[in-house]
Amino acid sequence: GGAWEGRMSDCDTFDGRFGSLMRGSAAIERLWTGGRWTEGPVYVPAAKAVIWSDIPEDRVMRYDETSGAVSVFEHPCGYHNGHTLDAYGRVVACEHGGRRISRLGFDGRWETIVDRFDGKRLNSPNDVAVKSDGSIWFTDPSYGIDSDYEGHTAKSEIGACNVYRHNPQTGETTAVVTSLDRPNGLAFSPDERILYVSNTSLSETPAIHAFRVAEDGRTVGGGRVFALSDNGVFDGFRIDRAGNIWTSSGDGVRVYAADGTLLGRINIPESVSNLCFGGRKRNRLYITATSSLYAVYVHANPAERPMASLGNASQPGNW
Ligand code: MG
Repeated sequence: GGAWEGRMSDCDTFDGRFGSLMRGSAAIERLWTGGRWTEGPVYVPAAKAVIWSDIPEDRVMRYDETSGAVSVFEHPCGYHNGHTLDAYGRVVACEHGGRRISRLGFDGRWETIVDRFDGKRLNSPNDVAVKSDGSIWFTDPSYGIDSDYEGHTAKSEIGACNVYRHNPQTGETTAVVTSLDRPNGLAFSPDERILYVSNTSLSETPAIHAFRVAEDGRTVGGGRVFALSDNGVFDGFRIDRAGNIWTSSGDGVRVYAADGTLLGRINIPESVSNLCFGGRKRNRLYITATSSLYAVYVHANPAERPMASLGNASQPGNW
């Protein structure tokens, strides 16, 4: 367990809109500590649990929301990083070690979704988002092959760090963003017309970029800088129903309005890597920060995505 606890006084308000997103009395709790570098949280409603990665330890951790217990979910696991859910509620994972996107099937087995582009092995998938049409979008920087610390040292076969779109029905994978040095976190706006991607390259100012999703929903264009960081990088982020971006940063969780205004910051005593909405009402923000898992109840919920029905044999959406 983790004894540290903060309150609303540990938040900084930069815009009046921030007040309506936070609960004045809500504690910022440290639920667990003891990790080496925590990342990639996802809330799994059917399990009433959050799972997240502790990348250097090559393990996935699990927080049981009903009992508060924390346990090891998978070890070794192929150095997981980011996680999300597909339209069936299955966990989709980025694996540094496996250099693939994998999915946890209903039978409990991890299966490969995609591990190559153009016949070459991926670098080390970092973060992933599933669009409502079922396509899987992911970033592929080199952090998992740069050293043995978060994966296995290897040379990049592709020679670039791109963002990809994978169509699991046809098996087709296309590069959708090739202009960022180290693409990392990614998420869609609630209407899926904007794709946000962070760049965590240290050779330029860390930023979140916004790309316009094309009418066919399969390609993007018109990249622009959405936000620049003056403290650490925007590693991973999630977007609420109103379109606000809740992002990691070096000094806590920053909340940006869709118009780019920095609304406020939830100060966390460790460098934040990523976050997700969870809880029965999806109004609890789970935060992975260096060695720990934190949580705070907020007045915000994630954008709802249509869930596929298992009773319907056809796949969701238009591929
Ligand atoms: Mg990341």
